[in-house]
Amino acid sequence: RFTEGKRVVKDKDLGSLIATDMTRCIHCTRCVRFGSEIAGIRELGATGRGECTEIGTYIERAVVSEVSGNVIDLCPVGALTSKPFRFSARGWELNQVPSISPHDCIGSNIFIQSRRNQVMRVVPRENDFINEIWISDRDRFSYEGLSSEERLISPKIKKNNRWLSVSWDEAFQYAVKQLQNIIQQEGPGALGSLVSPNSTVEECYLLQKLMRGLGSNNIDHRLRQLDFRNQEAMPLSPSLGVSLKEIEQQEVVLLVGSNVRKEQPILSLKLRKMIQGNGNVAVINPIDFPFNFEVSHKLIVESGDLVRGLARLVKAILLETGYQPSKQWNWLTSLQIDEGDVELAKLWITSKRKLLLLGSLAVSHPSYSEIWALSALLRELTQAKIGILTDGANHAGAWLTGCVPHRLPAGRSNEGLAGFQIEEMWEQNLKGFLLLNFEPSLDCSNASKSVQVLQKAECVVAISAFESKNLLAIADVLLPMAPFSENSGTYVNVEGKWQSFGPAVEPLAESRPAWKILRQLGSLFKISGFTQNSVQDVLQSVSEEMGVEVSLPSFNSEWLDELAFEPHSEQVIRIAPVPLYAQDGIVRRARALQQTPDSGNAVVHLNQKLCDRLTLKGDRVRIRCQKENLMLPFKIDNTIGDNSVMICAGIEETQGLDGPYSVVQVENI
Ligand code: SF4
Repeated sequence: RFTEGKRVVKDKDLGSLIATDMTRCIHCTRCVRFGSEIAGIRELGATGRGECTEIGTYIERAVVSEVSGNVIDLCPVGALTSKPFRFSARGWELNQVPSISPHDCIGSNIFIQSRRNQVMRVVPRENDFINEIWISDRDRFSYEGLSSEERLISPKIKKNNRWLSVSWDEAFQYAVKQLQNIIQQEGPGALGSLVSPNSTVEECYLLQKLMRGLGSNNIDHRLRQLDFRNQEAMPLSPSLGVSLKEIEQQEVVLLVGSNVRKEQPILSLKLRKMIQGNGNVAVINPIDFPFNFEVSHKLIVESGDLVRGLARLVKAILLETGYQPSKQWNWLTSLQIDEGDVELAKLWITSKRKLLLLGSLAVSHPSYSEIWALSALLRELTQAKIGILTDGANHAGAWLTGCVPHRLPAGRSNEGLAGFQIEEMWEQNLKGFLLLNFEPSLDCSNASKSVQVLQKAECVVAISAFESKNLLAIADVLLPMAPFSENSGTYVNVEGKWQSFGPAVEPLAESRPAWKILRQLGSLFKISGFTQNSVQDVLQSVSEEMGVEVSLPSFNSEWLDELAFEPHSEQVIRIAPVPLYAQDGIVRRARALQQTPDSGNAVVHLNQKLCDRLTLKGDRVRIRCQKENLMLPFKIDNTIGDNSVMICAGIEETQGLDGPYSVVQVENI
């Protein structure tokens, strides 16, 4: 008989994602090694010796890494398990379907496991070329949002300010009649359509076909972009410039306006691998983000001025190479550079494989045109590659299928008939809108303006998986769509890989795949080409449009002629990153993820220097912008660049503020 005392270890509280049964732990240290070798954050470790050894977080605290859930898969004994899933089903009861994650541009391969038509768990699916065997916590735990109480389960129309649940036929008839009235009275140019970059290739294709069939080119998917002046010079679709596998072989990667660790966690792991192989990562950012890899050169710009930061590197490279540009740009003489710029320039010039990556803070910058032109100049000068790290799973697919106002599918020109981009749609106060798969008050840069315009519009038809308070306030017709787990479709990831997936479960209640809703609308409007019987038929129609040779404009240096760098004013600029778990409607409704710090909060972050200059007192400040006047708590955070405050976007509390890089006034209450 076993007469020794049994060893029992108290369970640890690691937060809302990972549950522990530490008595099971065999001290193999795989979870510890994952933190130090793969994730780059040592959160778990061993304390004590011999029989007293325990695995834990040293001091009692939650695990906050954005890829922490992977320890669940690699723990050999089930000491670490998924808190949201644990004990809710047996492994053999689950039906497993391969799918693609819809939350970022990487296109991580996943398995969706379901039981009795409910998604119970998401686990990684190995793909050496994309996510290897890892997925981010956002990909793993966001499935909880699919069973949110806010799921829209039947078509609805608003009559006399009251919402009525109606049949699909009635909702279709109502929507078509309302939109037709607008076309008859104001012409098709009074209609606009906006689509989430998380929508599939098939949905994007049918949406633009519907709008163009109605006679309107007012179509856009760039919900978080503000500057479109240089849109003609953009590539066929945003891409990484290299394959995901090739990231590891780069010698130097320059991140501009990117918090890659929180935006594309899997890419961040690849950059970490690249550094372990002697590569270098340099950053030009408005905030000194805590990355999970070492940064060799860092420039934290003042007032969110990424243009100046990038121009400094360009000047240093020109000086180092002795290259004379064909034009004498004034900004080259007036711009100050320092030793750090020269050092980075030398590294950049001597490296053979170099990649410049523009992140979401660069893409959403009001001077994105200049940032793009400087990046293109850097490419011309040094044969570097440029990549764009987009938000959403299918930005590339939306570009390719023509969900932009100035290009048809496959990048073909629409012969001078460019429609309005999103910002112009707000300015023009269009009368009718068709929205697909997003919530304007949280997913658009110009959230307050979007709500104002949509509330005034005569008819807003929203195809959505959720019915939020905000959507109910602005829409006139709500059509329930099936989210990715209940739908078939294709995403094009950031390296240009087309990945199709099928449904894991049946659509909830009366919801339908959005491609079927759009096909039906096309038929009701009597537009030709809406006869597809399956999602494969739609993809076939897309393929027939692709492969056309298009010539796109090459680098145009005119954007740099007018560049001028004055000394910074004392105005305070708002930097508005979208928190990791506020990126889209599904993630925003995932309970466990919302209990982590990465769900975002309405706190003003600013550095000590700015706090002293503004003589801020107490723990709350008043934030004034053009329309809104908010009182928020503030926090001293010296990672924020000078003359800037960080106030997150994508959360309800801050939706009334002006968009990213707007001027705000910060005052004592
Ligand atoms: Fe213990 Fe599991 Fe970590 Fe191994 S992976 S040390 S068994 S908790």
